[in-house]
Formats: sequence, C-alpha cells, structure tokens
Amino acid sequence: MWGRAVFPRSSRIFIGVIFAIVAVTAITVFWPRPPRPSIILVTFDTTRADRLGCYGYPHGLTSAFDEFAKGGVLFERAFAPCPITLPSHATMLTGLYPPEHDLRVNGSGHLSSEIPFLPAILKEHGYDTGAFIAAAPVLGAQFGLSRGFDTYDDAPARLSTRVRPYGGERRDGEEVVTLALDWLQQRTDKPYFCWIHLYDAHGPYDAFADIYQQKFEKEPYDAGVAWEIRQFARVTALLKERGLDSNTLVIVAGDHGEGLNDHGEHEHSMLVYNSTLHVPLVFAGLPECQPGTRVKHAVSLADLMPTVLDILNIKRPDHVSGRSLLAALNGQPIESRDCYAESEMPYFLNRWCPLQTVISEQWKYIESTRPELYNLELDPHETTNLIDTATDERSFMEIKLSELTETFQKTRAEHVELSERDQANLQSLGYVSGGTSAHTDPSVGNRQALIDVKDMVPFIAKFEDAKHIASGERLEEAIALLQEVASGTKDFPLSDARLGDLLAESGRTSEALEVYSSVLERRPDFASVHVKSGRILASLGQFAPAETHFREAVGLTPHDASVHLQLANVLTQEQRFDEAIAEYREALRIAPHAVAANLSLGNLLVRLRRPTEAIACFENAQRYDANNFAVLENLMMVLAQTGQIDKAVTVGSRAIALNPASFESQFNLGIMLVQASRIADGLKHLREAQKLRPSDPRPAQIIQEAELALKGSSR
Ligand SMILES: [Zn+2]
Repeated sequence: MWGRAVFPRSSRIFIGVIFAIVAVTAITVFWPRPPRPSIILVTFDTTRADRLGCYGYPHGLTSAFDEFAKGGVLFERAFAPCPITLPSHATMLTGLYPPEHDLRVNGSGHLSSEIPFLPAILKEHGYDTGAFIAAAPVLGAQFGLSRGFDTYDDAPARLSTRVRPYGGERRDGEEVVTLALDWLQQRTDKPYFCWIHLYDAHGPYDAFADIYQQKFEKEPYDAGVAWEIRQFARVTALLKERGLDSNTLVIVAGDHGEGLNDHGEHEHSMLVYNSTLHVPLVFAGLPECQPGTRVKHAVSLADLMPTVLDILNIKRPDHVSGRSLLAALNGQPIESRDCYAESEMPYFLNRWCPLQTVISEQWKYIESTRPELYNLELDPHETTNLIDTATDERSFMEIKLSELTETFQKTRAEHVELSERDQANLQSLGYVSGGTSAHTDPSVGNRQALIDVKDMVPFIAKFEDAKHIASGERLEEAIALLQEVASGTKDFPLSDARLGDLLAESGRTSEALEVYSSVLERRPDFASVHVKSGRILASLGQFAPAETHFREAVGLTPHDASVHLQLANVLTQEQRFDEAIAEYREALRIAPHAVAANLSLGNLLVRLRRPTEAIACFENAQRYDANNFAVLENLMMVLAQTGQIDKAVTVGSRAIALNPASFESQFNLGIMLVQASRIADGLKHLREAQKLRPSDPRPAQIIQEAELALKGSSR
C-alpha cells in the first residue's frame, strides 16, 4: 500500500523507453498502477526562516528540522503572500493570492465554495483527510478551510498539556501532534492528507524554562520555535518507525514570520518586510525531492498547491496564481518569477494605506503612501530605501506589480457569522471584525492621502505591548500605554477603541464612553465601537442612545446576527415589541442556530401571551443546544402554562439533571408533578426546593397540601 514509483516528469519519456526494452524480455511482469503517496503538511505559524539552523541561524535548537531539510528540498527564498495566518494558509491551499481568495485578514470571511481547494481535490481523489489546528480563533472551521476534511480538529485544548501564559484560545503543539499521530496511526490502505498546524512560536512568548532552563531567557521566541520543532520531530519519527519516510510527502511551511523589532515591528500583520514574509519551505520524502537540494529562486506559498497536484499528476484548476515547483524538487532549473504579497491590515483596522509588494530575484518594491524599493541582493535586510535613486528599477518594479495584479481572478469570500466568543478571541489577538478592505471601499481614491504605516510603527509597538499586558491582567499598565498612544496620535482608532475596552473592563464606563465617542467622531463606520457603546449605554438603562448605536451598527454590518439581537434586546426594554420581534426574526434568519436570539424571542413571546410561538422558539434553541438549562427551564414553564403537563415534566426533569441547585426548577417541577397526581415524585422535588431556600414559605405550604392529598387518596 505504501510503495509507489511515480517518476519525476522530466524522466518519464526515458523511463518509457526502458519499459519498452524490458517488456521484450519480461512480458509477464505486471505493473500495477501505483497508489498516490500520502502527504503531511506541517505549518509552522509565525516562524521566521532566519531563525532556523538550516537557514543560517546558530543560536536555536532546530537540529531535528535541519536534518529533515537536508534530506529534502529547501527553498531558500520562500515568501508568504501576507503576514497573517488565515490569508496565508488560504493561499497555500488554493494556489491563489489573497486578493483572489478574498480572505485578506483574520476573521474576515469564509472561503468561497467556488474556489478549488487542495484538501477537497484530494478527498475527491480518494484521500483520507485530517487537519489538526492549534489556533481556532484564526483557523477555525467557520472560515472555510475545513472543506474536504473528514476530520477538522480545531477544538479547544482538551488533553492535559502544559499551561502557558497564552493569549486567546490556542493549543500547545504537544497536544496537536498527539492528536495527529493518533489519527495517522488509524490510517489503513488509503492515501491520506494530514495538515498539522503548530502555533508555539506565536506571541506572547514563553521561554519554556521547564524544558530549556535558561537557554532562551533572552530570546523566548526561539523557545517556541524549538518546541514546535520538537513536536514536528515526533511526526517524522513515526514515519521512520513505520518505514514510511521514503514514500510520504512531508511539506513544512511557515505561514509568515515575526518582526522581532526589525523595522520597529514587534510581531506581524502590518508591515511587509522580509522579517515577516520570508518563511521556511521544505519538501521531502518522495523520489521527486532530491535530498540536499537548495533552491535559490524566489518562490511563493501560492506555489504549494500546484506543486502538490503536479507531483500527484492531478489536473490543476483552470486558474491558479502559483506555479508548480516540481522541476525544482528534481534539482532542475526553474525560471524566475515574481512573488506578490500584501497587507490589508493597516487599512482594514485603521484606514491607513494598505501595502502591496512585488518581490523579484533581485528587487523588492513596496507600494504605499511613500513607496519603498530595496536591492535584496545587496541589502537583504531592507535597510536602504532606493526609491528616489534607482528610478529605472522603480518604474520597472511598479510595472511588474501592476502586471501581476492584473492577472488576479477575484472571488468574493462568503460572509462568516462570528459568535461573541469568536469575536473576543480575535480581539485578544488584535483583530476586529467588520472592517473594510481598501479594495472594496469606494472612498479610497487617492492613496497618497492616507497615512503611511511606517509613520505609525512606534505607536503600533506600544499597542502590541498593551495587548499582552492586558491579557496578563495588568490592566492599569495597559491603559496607561494606550493613553500614551492616544496623546501621541489621533490617527490610531483601533488603539483608542482598545483603550475604551480596557476602561470599560476596569469599570470606568463613563471614560470608556468618552473614548468610544471620540473614535466614532473620526471613524463613524467603526461598527464594533458602536456595538460596545450601545452595550454600555444599555447596561446603564440609557436605551434610546443605545438603540441609536445599535442601529448604526446594523446599517454598517447588516449580516451580523448578534447586532440585530442586541438591537432587539434594547427595543424590548423600550417596550417596542413589534420592532423587537422583527429584529429577533432577522437575527434568526441570518443565524437560525443562534440560541440567545431564540431564547430572548421566546421569552418576549411568553410575555406577550403568544405561548405557541414561544414554544417553537425554545424548541428551536434546543435543537442547537440540547443542554442549555435556561432554554429547558423556560420551555418547561410555557408547556405547563399551555396545559402540556407531561411534556413539561419531561423537559423539567432534564433541566434539573443539568442544574439540581435551581430552586425555581425544583419548585415548579414539584408543583407540576403534584398536579399530575404524581404526588410522591412531586414531594421529592418540593423538599429539595425547601432545602435550597429554607426562608421561602411556599414549598412548605404545597408540601402540606400534597401530603394531605396523599393521605386522602390512600385512605
Ligand atoms: Zn500565522
């Protein structure tokens, strides 16, 4: 099952001749069609190529990876299409650049089902498919990269691995690899495609002192890299142990790098220098991958998908922007080709000028308010901007960029419905939902008028520091840092919005509202700030201004069910019930599974004495969340009100199983059972209710009556 002999394309004709000769003397030999090889794709999140030994770094603990790379083909100059997780992974798996697949920042959408997708293509060709994801906030199934996977494990941490000072929901690589190895060990005779996503190098960093003692005290980023490689080595060890290391294609790619203070950038996402775009890329494990090959040409992660399809001899989709690197894997020369990369984050978050870059073998041009040009051969660290001196190269590269982007075939991403938890997780990573891309915003006319992100770098650094301090619960320090940013610039709305959040979190609501309103003066389209203002105002009982904010937010993000829900809640408070019902219905039209909307609408309908409709809402909520206590409790009550006592008792018993400490449920179920003449059962619950709230006289009264009734019936 594992053996295979797909020969390199360049040598196929030659091999054909050999077969013809051999066939004369050995006509009885039967050559079965070889099965396709299995494939493991490991993505190292936030991993700079130049922090790995095989890319020249002397200080890390990366020998397991360096050894692996030596046995395969290493691309010395591989570039991410974008310094952000979701867009970069989408590019690897579609062969398309971000403007084409339209996932341009984290959380911004769901990959269009029209786009051919590597895992789905492999599934169609008989592959078992499994993905093991370390960071659901950025790569959760809701963003559409789960298409074609039999197993897409993006669950929260569930094995007892180490606890680290992590921001957001993420899983240690040890857990992710353990789950992936379990899955790999269950494979039988079918080829498989396994994607393992490791997030250990992503900030906030941890020196892993329990593992590496003081080694990484000064460079904790390197500890995350060492740890992910240690986990990666468990995968290659399994292949070796099973004798599969020479017929399983293993691809390792970084999704983007990390600033580490180069160009003043601590982390990644805003700037497009090579500190965040230059990533490791290695192919190994098949005869096509000539051991020890190092490819010097610039290549893009967009090339990954067409290369895999070419190796497997599967027809590639009609349009991809990447190219097959199969010849390079064979040690053959390949032609030079420009790579594209971008960052929409500056615009998406702050309306600063977005960045687009084209990277050729020698030059790199960055389009922005003040463009940049670097000679990468002489200046690989991009320190000397030649835009005003190398004028010929500048116009040449400008033309290259526009020619390249003209070839893009754009598809709109689908809307993604983010839960509040999704939104909170993204926010903890520094992203906001509901932003706009520069390319879809008609107001972006003259880019020269937009702020250049280069000028904002010192503020971005403070903003990122504050993000980590706040997640470590040093709220006041984080607030002080963001206040420094606010006094230094009026042009960083995301930072101000975050300042508002932290003020609200620390109970300083009037200051928070002030900050939010100053953000909205400058950025009236900042939907999430409208929502947050609305929430605070509603919590203070100021429903009319809260309603205004929610209406603004609905206008800006009409597809966001949670905004309709919050508007409906405020309208309910204002006793404008018909309007409230319409908004709840709209929320449920967008997201029928929204339990909170079903529950709130159900409660309102109970209040309006429309029990049949209310029951439908609660039952709908139950369909999506069978163990929601509030839903069961409310459903029990309304069933009882409509005389459906048997059903009410069944539902009530389930509610009590979930929450035996609820006085209301015990008391109400007790009464219902007594009414249904199941007096002994009823007494049991009434006595529980009495125990839960001894000061309440009602259970005792009913117990007394019920006991009398019981005696009467037994007489
Ligand atoms: Zn990433």
